[in-house]
Amino acid sequence: MNDCLFCKMVRGEIKPDIVFENDHVLAFNDINPQAPVHVLVIPKRHIATMNELDDAYLGGEVLKAAVNLAKKLNIADDGYRTVFNCNQHGGQAVYHLHLHLLGGRQMAWPPG
Ligand code: AMP
Ligand code: ZN
Repeated sequence: MNDCLFCKMVRGEIKPDIVFENDHVLAFNDINPQAPVHVLVIPKRHIATMNELDDAYLGGEVLKAAVNLAKKLNIADDGYRTVFNCNQHGGQAVYHLHLHLLGGRQMAWPPG
């Protein structure tokens, strides 16, 4: 057993607001949303950061789930942003790989 917050969600010890789940990934609403739609898509297997991503199939499952959710949540046509934050300079706070899916408003570029 590890103490990782997102692994606890995968095990059901903490119950996030789940929007999608399959054998490989879990997706849930971010607790501190930065946009009208702010979903996190995580692999169920613990991978700490993008630097440890060693499974192209699993990475593809995360991406595919995000695209399917963008369509289901009606932000696909207007557009959306997907972000993996990695380590300190990337602003990563939770060390279990997660893809931010953000939409429902105009995003700024470049990011801060
Ligand atoms: P990052 O900075 O990329 O590591 O993002 C971590 C994200 O996890 C932040 O957007 C947080 O708001 C989100 N977060 C932290 N705790 C929870 C939680 N219990 N449920 C849902 N989202 C969370
Ligand atoms: Zn984890």
